[in-house]
Amino acid sequence: MNIAIYMRLSKEDEFSHEESNSITMQRLLLRDYVREHFPQAKVFEFSDDGYSGTNFDRPGVQALLDGVKNAEFNCIIVKDFSRFARDYIELGSYLEQIFPFMGVRFISINDKYDSDQYSGNVADIDVNFKNLLYDLYSKDLSLKIKASVRAVKEQGKAVCSTPPFGYTKDPQDRHKFVTAEDEAAVVRRLFKMYAGGMSTVEIARIFNEEGVKPPSQVWHEKGIRKADPKGGAFVWQHSGMLRMLKNRAYVGDLVQGVYECQKIRDDRRVTDPEKWIITENHHEPIIDRETFDKVQERFQKSGRKWKRRDQHVLVGRVNCGCCGHNLRHSTGIGQPYYWCPGLNIYHMDGCVKRIEDFYLEEVILFQIQQHIMELGESDKLLQAEKEAAEAETEALRKKCRDVDKAIDKEKAQRMAEFEAYALGQKKSYDVSIDGVEKLRKKYEGLMEQLSEAEDKVRQLNRVKVHESFAVTKLTEELLDEYVESIEVHPGNEVRISWK
Ligand SMILES: [Zn+2]
Repeated sequence: MNIAIYMRLSKEDEFSHEESNSITMQRLLLRDYVREHFPQAKVFEFSDDGYSGTNFDRPGVQALLDGVKNAEFNCIIVKDFSRFARDYIELGSYLEQIFPFMGVRFISINDKYDSDQYSGNVADIDVNFKNLLYDLYSKDLSLKIKASVRAVKEQGKAVCSTPPFGYTKDPQDRHKFVTAEDEAAVVRRLFKMYAGGMSTVEIARIFNEEGVKPPSQVWHEKGIRKADPKGGAFVWQHSGMLRMLKNRAYVGDLVQGVYECQKIRDDRRVTDPEKWIITENHHEPIIDRETFDKVQERFQKSGRKWKRRDQHVLVGRVNCGCCGHNLRHSTGIGQPYYWCPGLNIYHMDGCVKRIEDFYLEEVILFQIQQHIMELGESDKLLQAEKEAAEAETEALRKKCRDVDKAIDKEKAQRMAEFEAYALGQKKSYDVSIDGVEKLRKKYEGLMEQLSEAEDKVRQLNRVKVHESFAVTKLTEELLDEYVESIEVHPGNEVRISWK
């Protein structure tokens, strides 16, 4: 007879100082048993030191199973089941199917189990407990939570920590929004001004001058957001306004499931729009659809002017400061240039005779850079906002990890209790999983907050070109966003009026 003895010491065993679980003690016990029961047998030793028993990803156990496959021995002996596997489902499948099929006898000394003498079903030990263990040991907890959050979203219920500016959570039902009149008035005004043709930069300036509180300030005062104002004061910003102007929530729709979170530590990614969960007429609209559509139309129009692609970026945008005529672009001899057709009509001295396009471009770009810098140093503010959002996200990730660990700990305690019962050290065991459920709820709440925070970081990261000092190229978008008109005056003096 060829016998394999298997020993395992886990990290927890080391800490518990339980001498009977040390490799040496396990070996003594197993060798004694073999000597007494199978004095003629040849013994093969397998062991894993410092490995958890929750999976089979252990070198010793892998070598043991390889030996089983190669029919190198016909009996396996362990001190107790948990040495071989802590996952009782997996243990069951080995004891009931794999070992019998391979003709391998299995003996667990402390469990008084010997497959040769056991005719019943191992898993019958306690079917209910098996289910409980399965639940406790369910590997993909986050997957389950994700599925349940999605199910809630599909029912048209809002799952987020802060509703959009203009709404608050319904005190009767946290999945519903109710209109916050003061905030809604600001939202309506914003849409009206933008639909009326004002730029977001201009609106931001007016709101800031009038002292209209931006969402960040309102949330801060309500205690929803903890972060202090960056740069000394809360201000309206172009980027935040654009987000509001594009938010379908204001016509009463709820759009969820835009981002997908793979794992806690992973970055989230934008999902296929087909997967978005849209609930129309979820809450009372603040903006009528007509106004909303008008605003969206303006987004689509900007940057798509009548101009042909091969034309110079400033064509159609520059006027003569003297006669007001639109300057013409010519590509004659030398560097392409702009000139005023009024020269041939009015014969005025002040009309633009020649201004080279690269020079005009440089001057305008420089002025735009200056202008952006004057717009309240928005880039610095943005950077500070980004840093604060990232810090918040990191803190939430850490909390999630901590709760995750606490769940594992709670599970291990349940498991230990069952083992004590299975080994006859205790008369009963506590099957309550309330502790774990409570932790899971907490985890779920943290995940919601985390996904909100990550959302914010992502949105902030998307805001770049227009507000950054890194504006290095004159583009259609830049001109559309900031420039109302450009005039060239005598002496080729360039004057820009801003949106
Ligand atoms: Zn002119």
